[in-house]
Amino acid sequence: MLVLEYKAKANKAQYQAIEESIKTTQFVRNKCLRYWMDSSKEDSINNAAISRYSTVLRANFPFVAALNSMAVQAAAERAWLAISRFYDNCKKAKPGKKGFPRFQHDNRSVEYKTSGWSLHPTKRRITFTDKKGIGELKLMGKWDIHTHPVKSVKRVRIVRRADGYYVQFCVDVECKETVQFTGQEIGLDFGLEHFYTDSNGYHEPNPRFLRKTEKQVKHVQRRIYKKEKGKNGRKKARNRYARKHLKISRQRTEHAKSRARHVMRSNDLCVYENLQVKNMVRNHHLAKSINDAGWRQFRSYLEYFAQKYRKVALAVEPHYTSQECPKCGTMVKKSLSTRTHTCKCGCVLQRDYAAAINILRKGKEKIATSGHGESKPTSKKKARNARGVGSSTHVGANLHKQLPTLSLESHGFL
Ligand SMILES: [Zn+2]
Repeated sequence: MLVLEYKAKANKAQYQAIEESIKTTQFVRNKCLRYWMDSSKEDSINNAAISRYSTVLRANFPFVAALNSMAVQAAAERAWLAISRFYDNCKKAKPGKKGFPRFQHDNRSVEYKTSGWSLHPTKRRITFTDKKGIGELKLMGKWDIHTHPVKSVKRVRIVRRADGYYVQFCVDVECKETVQFTGQEIGLDFGLEHFYTDSNGYHEPNPRFLRKTEKQVKHVQRRIYKKEKGKNGRKKARNRYARKHLKISRQRTEHAKSRARHVMRSNDLCVYENLQVKNMVRNHHLAKSINDAGWRQFRSYLEYFAQKYRKVALAVEPHYTSQECPKCGTMVKKSLSTRTHTCKCGCVLQRDYAAAINILRKGKEKIATSGHGESKPTSKKKARNARGVGSSTHVGANLHKQLPTLSLESHGFL
């Protein structure tokens, strides 16, 4: 299980609704506890009985019914957790206090399971759809919940902290695919002609659909301005434009995801350029052909799958990767329009192919040179920046062990 946490941004009324839900959770938990305490031994209250009782509460208290039914169940489960912990301690005859369940007064969280909420398809937003009226919350955080399929989100919890409210997603990443280590390494060059070129000389073509839909988007966008302001037609046109946009971003996501999955499945190490997209886009002529958003997304998927498959994705600075000769190391200056690398040493390669080889070499150097870390302890921050730096010169199956913790930080669930 991986827990992704975001700070929630909302208005005052929404915060009140969250408080209300947290209180209801506590109410249900304590009521269930009371139900267990008041029952006789013969009743032999178990988890199922408590769960049934929570539906009785829903029938009797409108404010409980307003909370999503699975959230009510989750609250009842909290009571059962306390009870069963107590039973366990008794059974094991644990010395000292057995931890008889207590009523809770300081609950600070409410937990939804797989219903009662929906994620915005692209933006970092979540909407709570039950009758508590929490509504849509903005999620502030740098990681991306969208890289995980919605199905793998098993719980969503809102937690009150001293400095505000947080939304935690409990993601089931244990349905991990087991992927074999292949002993293969790859360098990627992001180019204009191709989506990427790898160090084996393979060119991944630019996705054609993007160009096609891009044209459609431009067309739909122009039509907005032809409609009169404030009229229904304009609203419709805007909506069509928004939907087209959504379509593009979904296609792009699918493409980036499938390519990245493929790369990380068939290689143990993947090195790519740390692209300064900002600088590149400044050149207006290139701007159109540079699939900047696509690359950024592709890169974050590479990192995601590297984590998932316990492999290594590494970014290196792109300096001179397109100029150096991969065979002898001589600088061979060339402009962007020169598509072939031709060196005095006799090395003739397609430009991007040569760059990809250099990128892979740079990555392996980076791993090897910063790898003295075993004798002198590197600080945590340094290790994180270096991403998966180890002492081994062989980049392979054992490297993942030295990887620092995931960049998608896990937080304790409570
Ligand atoms: Zn050369």
